[in-house]
Amino acid sequence: MTSEIRALLREELQGLSAYGAPQLDVAVRLNVNENSYAPPTEVVRAVARALEGEIATLNRYPDRDALKLRADLAAYLGHGLTAEQVYAANGSNEVQQQLLQAFGGPGRTALGFGPAYSMHPLLAAGTATGWVDGGRGPDFGLTASHVEAVLREYRPAITFLCSPNNPTGTALSLDVVRAALAATSGIVVVDEAYAEFARPGTPSALTLLEANPRLVVTRTMSKAFAFAGARVGYLAAGPEIVEAVQLVRLPYHLSALTQAAARAALAHADVLLSTVEQIKIQRDRIVAELRERGHQVADSDANFVLYRVARDGSADETDQKVVWRRILDAGVLVRDVGLPGWLRVTAGTPAETSAFLAAVETSDSLPAAVETLEN
Ligand SMILES: *Cc1c(COP(=O)(O)O)cnc(C)c1O
Repeated sequence: MTSEIRALLREELQGLSAYGAPQLDVAVRLNVNENSYAPPTEVVRAVARALEGEIATLNRYPDRDALKLRADLAAYLGHGLTAEQVYAANGSNEVQQQLLQAFGGPGRTALGFGPAYSMHPLLAAGTATGWVDGGRGPDFGLTASHVEAVLREYRPAITFLCSPNNPTGTALSLDVVRAALAATSGIVVVDEAYAEFARPGTPSALTLLEANPRLVVTRTMSKAFAFAGARVGYLAAGPEIVEAVQLVRLPYHLSALTQAAARAALAHADVLLSTVEQIKIQRDRIVAELRERGHQVADSDANFVLYRVARDGSADETDQKVVWRRILDAGVLVRDVGLPGWLRVTAGTPAETSAFLAAVETSDSLPAAVETLEN
C-alpha cells in the first residue's frame, strides 16, 4: 500500500494485515479446518436441482428475511427453536460482524479470551470497536473465575467465547458461559463453529438461550456440513437480537442461490454429517499418535488439533515456522496460528492424516532448527 493511501485509512486499521491463511496448491491441505470430504453425489444433485429452480426467477430479489432457511436451521438445531430465533448470513463471520455493528462500534469494547479465533479482533477493528484480550491459562483452559474477573474489570459491550475454541480445540463447560452472563450486562456470543465435532456429553450453549436474552450462539455450515464454499452461517438467540442485526444487514444480503443451496443441503443433513464421525476418528488418532511421539497436544473437541512442535524433554523451543516449512516440504499444509512453538492441523481423511503423521515423523528426525523462516 502506498503511504498516501495508508495515511487515508481509518486509524484503527493502520498497520493491520488482512485475514490471510495461505491458499497454496498443495496435495494435502489441512490448514483452515475445512471438511476434507466433498459433498456426496446425492447432495450435489439436490443442490443443483434447487439452484436451477431459482435461476429462472433471478430477476427478482430474494426473500429478504430468508424465512424458509431460518425455519430449516431452527429445525436442525432443535431445542424448541423457531425461525424468529434464528438469523442467517454469508458465513458466521458476517453474523459476528453484524453483531458488532449492532452492539459494538466507536467507544465500545469487545472482549475475547486468546488464543481464540483470529477473526474476532479483526471484525472488532473493522467495526471501530475496541478489543481486549482477556487471555487464558497455560493449558488453554478457561475458568469461570477468570472470565468473571476479566469481565468485571473491562465491562465489554460484547464478549466472545469460543467453544470448542479455535485454535486450541477446548470446549467450555456451561458454568463458564453462565459466569460470563452473570458478570456482564452486555451481549455474550458463544461461537460454536465446531459444535458438531464435540465429544459426547459436551454441552451446547443453545440449552441456555431460553433463560438468557443477552446470549447469542453462532454456528456455521462451513465445517461439519462440508459447505464452506457456499458461505452460510447463522445465529440462534432471542427474537430481539434477530431484530437488532436486521437493522445493520444489507438489504437482500443472502442471495436466492445461497438460500436455496443451504436448504437443499440441510434436507440432506444426515448424509452430510455422516463424515463427522470419520473425522473425529482421525482427530483422536492425531492426538494419540502425536502424544505417543512425545508431543504435547491440547485436548480437542473440534476437527483440528493444536500440538507443540518440540518433543517433551527437549530443551530448545523449536520454531514452529521452521517445522511448518518442513511439513509443507513434505506436501502437507498445516497452520501456523502465531503461537510460538505450536502448530494446528485439521483432521482430514485417513490418507491425509497418514501423510501428516509421516511428515511429522520426518520433521522430528531432523535436528532442532535454529534459524527462523518467514512464512
Ligand atoms: C471456521 C470458523 C468459523 C466459520 O466461519 P464462516 O464464516 O461461517 O465460514 C467461525 N468461527 C470459528 C471459530 C471458526 O474457526
